[in-house]
Amino acid sequence: MKCEAAKLTDVFGSNVFNDAVMRERLPKATYKALKKTIDEGLPLDPAVAEVVASAMKDWAIEKGATHYTHWFQPMTGVTAEKHDSFISPTAEGKVIMEFSGKELIKGEPDASSFPSGGLRATFEARGYTTWDCTSPAFLKEDAAGVTLCIPTAFCSYTGEALDKKTPLLRSMEALSKQALRVLRLFGNTTATRVISTVGPEQEYFLVDRELYNKRKDLVFTGRTLFGAKPPKGQELEDHYFGTLKERISAFMKELNIELWKLGVSAKTQHNEVAPAQHEIAPIFSTTNIATDHNQLTMEMLKKVAARHGLACLLHEKPFAGINGSGKHNNWSMSTNDGQNLLDPGHTPHENAQFLVFLCAVIKAIDDYAELLRVSAANPGNDHRLGANEAPPAIISVFLGEQLTDILEQLEVAGTAKSSKQGGELKIGVSTLPALPKDTTDRNRTSPFAFTGNKFEFRMVPSSASISGPNVVLNTIVAETLCQIADRLEGASDFNAEVQALLKEIVVNHKRVIFNGNGYSEEWVEEAERRGLPNIKSTVEAIPYLISEKSIKLFEKHKVFSSTELHSRYEIHLENYIKQINIEALTMLDMAKRQILPAVVKYTNELASSINAVKAAGVDADISVQEEMLREVSATLVSFKKNIATLEKVTAEAANMHGDTYKQACFYRDEVFAAMGRLRVDGDKLETLVDAALWPMPTYAELLFYV
Ligand code: ADP
Ligand code: MG
Repeated sequence: MKCEAAKLTDVFGSNVFNDAVMRERLPKATYKALKKTIDEGLPLDPAVAEVVASAMKDWAIEKGATHYTHWFQPMTGVTAEKHDSFISPTAEGKVIMEFSGKELIKGEPDASSFPSGGLRATFEARGYTTWDCTSPAFLKEDAAGVTLCIPTAFCSYTGEALDKKTPLLRSMEALSKQALRVLRLFGNTTATRVISTVGPEQEYFLVDRELYNKRKDLVFTGRTLFGAKPPKGQELEDHYFGTLKERISAFMKELNIELWKLGVSAKTQHNEVAPAQHEIAPIFSTTNIATDHNQLTMEMLKKVAARHGLACLLHEKPFAGINGSGKHNNWSMSTNDGQNLLDPGHTPHENAQFLVFLCAVIKAIDDYAELLRVSAANPGNDHRLGANEAPPAIISVFLGEQLTDILEQLEVAGTAKSSKQGGELKIGVSTLPALPKDTTDRNRTSPFAFTGNKFEFRMVPSSASISGPNVVLNTIVAETLCQIADRLEGASDFNAEVQALLKEIVVNHKRVIFNGNGYSEEWVEEAERRGLPNIKSTVEAIPYLISEKSIKLFEKHKVFSSTELHSRYEIHLENYIKQINIEALTMLDMAKRQILPAVVKYTNELASSINAVKAAGVDADISVQEEMLREVSATLVSFKKNIATLEKVTAEAANMHGDTYKQACFYRDEVFAAMGRLRVDGDKLETLVDAALWPMPTYAELLFYV
């Protein structure tokens, strides 16, 4: 496990069938053909696949692999794999190691047990996995040995996407196509692809594994369902960027090595705001590879934590009253010759182009705020969005002073040329001046912030795949770029048309720009006046997936068919229902079988003490014990009543059939609400009952005893 600094370069990517390995091991012609497929999105020749499969197998076996798997991302949000060994029997009763092009390209896992949202009945079990050669194959080392993992897309017998990778790849193509149209208008003849890029910052908690195992809620639901406030929380703000504890540094060191081996460019790591909370961020890559790598990162976080006697919590809100976790999805677009399209740049000509791409994003965010909101919705995030720690549930864009100022000038000027007072910032299409690069201060409260040369979407849930948000981002920006290209391609005077277009976008969409405090109550009111949607919960957000507008958009860009959208609508609702149901059942179990008995024991102790003191016959004051007993008993009565209510509504919810949406609403309004009431009593009991009798580790232990 040792990794000296000098060896880091050897370790990095050592378990990846990457470009360097392919160049070394593939015949030149094969390498070239494969590269063409990867870089230009051309169809893959089966003959090429045959040669690649053979080289991949040899490489994997040399590194100790015995099995291979098509690694895919079903709608569960986690990855799936089914291992096959390389062995193939010979006539002499022996085996040889084989791996054909066909096995590389296509797999056929039984798909019937993955969520399909009605896309497929269980008797139609066929599902296919197809090699995604744009994300490199890698070796996984674990107790099972070494396994060659081939990133794949997963679809049904009828060709519908059953996974999170297929729509992402489709959305990348859509974006590339439309962005290229706009680039061509600006005279770019060299770029052949535009790639959306992402660097996700991943937040997580680490708690002691022994303590974790004693909490059914953490084990079954990923979050605490009971837990009184500890005496110390995050108020001292002493954890953020604080010195790492030895145990944590040891964990991070090993995590980095494991990730580097897999070619994940883990770059930054630090303590986060809450006690026991940390963050890891890689260097950005294509949205496809970044999504794969984020899945691997989440998996490795859990695995390495276990090796260090720790448990990694990826839930959005593991602890009430303590900051939760999210993912900051840093997103941009760049050409395949390396130009970041959201970089303000230096030359006037590039600035005009930059402003068009910037305005395209702003318009997309305003036009499709609801879709962006759904993409960040999950039951865990309902505890954060709008709850004064994460950005609000309202989508807005932070641009910073200087860009906002430029857009304001565009709005006012309306002509081809104008300049700011003092002449530093000229506004004109072909004569736009260079913009200062470091535009402004940061704004931590904005859900969608421009940060110099990229946008940071900060609503993304920590436990979820980043595929969803990036599918939406890619597609909505593709749509606005499409509208822009349609208009500019037909313009007789290009410069004048660009000018008019930019002005129009600013006028029509400036309502989505907000540079103030996103956490304030005033913003909620202001946003309402501006007519911005404020979608407060997951259940409320999900139906937007199948709105007419959404279906039209995704069908136009061939990212989702209407059927695929409907299946996702069902899956999201079902997932919500299942998750809240598990939480309710876990809570009931803890309440009835752990907390109730402990409290009863304590009341017994108090009662015995009162009796014993009385029996002693001395004239002692027993008012304190009596008062304690009264308070505990009163809370216990309320607690028991709330258990009964939660039991009743959970049973009722589980028996609702037919309309999934109605059922999900019932879970939110009745079950989730009843859980909240039960928790209040449970947490109060924790503060009243003898610590020695409390049946589970407390917040103080979980958060500070790492
Ligand atoms: P912070 O926001 O915490 O200051 P950084 O500025 O280091 O962090 O950036 C956060 C993430 O943004 C990193 O993963 C980084 O690689 C990524 N990033 C930087 N440039 C781009 C880009 N053009 N496209 C997508 N992600 C980017
Ligand atoms: Mg950031």
